Amino acid sequence: MATLFQRSTIGALLAGIFDGDETVGELLKHGDFGLGTFNALDGEMVVLDGICYHVRSDGSAELADLQAHTPFAAITNFTAEHSFLVHESSTRSDLSHRIDVAGRSANLTIAVRITGHFVRVKTRTVSAQTRPYPSLDEASRTELEIELEDVDGTLVGFRTPEFEHSIGVAGYHLHFLDNTRTRGGHMLDFTLGRGRVEIMELTEIHLSLPTRGAFLTADLDPSDGAAKIRHAEGT
Ligand SMILES: [Zn+2]
Repeated sequence: MATLFQRSTIGALLAGIFDGDETVGELLKHGDFGLGTFNALDGEMVVLDGICYHVRSDGSAELADLQAHTPFAAITNFTAEHSFLVHESSTRSDLSHRIDVAGRSANLTIAVRITGHFVRVKTRTVSAQTRPYPSLDEASRTELEIELEDVDGTLVGFRTPEFEHSIGVAGYHLHFLDNTRTRGGHMLDFTLGRGRVEIMELTEIHLSLPTRGAFLTADLDPSDGAAKIRHAEGT
């Protein structure tokens, strides 16, 4: 059975809990494919083929430091269970619909890997915050959006059921990494020219929660939480 390992919750990030105890090296014991962020919200994480990349606020990517810490990450061992080829230009909503149809149920988490030639990919990357930390929603307001055109690369991420909205990012949450592994970010929109979409159903979830610090006293599911996450994540 395929397991999603997740460190902390998106609700905790929303509440401004931007520092975690787990290192990238520890995280990689749980999988070879995933996404997240780094302590202080210092950039976007992409894990692809067992390698963890660190995307900076200018959209540049580099190998992550295995000693760096993460406050939020989701990772799995990816094996494509189902795939389809895309031969013509397809938007984010076109592909979301095709993936929804390919999956068995909107109530199951799926891992999604989209590899190919992208006509365009719009990304943003969070930047390091200083204490006292703002909320994720406030921090994401100042981010620079970057649009890449005519680029080969991979979208890495998950589709999370709506009922898990304060645990993961409900809906599609995908991070981009180009084939040179030097550019990427949190995907806001894209058009795929041609490529392959691969998915894997995740029926087990291992949720690893912080046992000290601000997590213990924060309000992790406020009444307007779902809307704020949508706004902060651009989903
Ligand atoms: Zn993201």
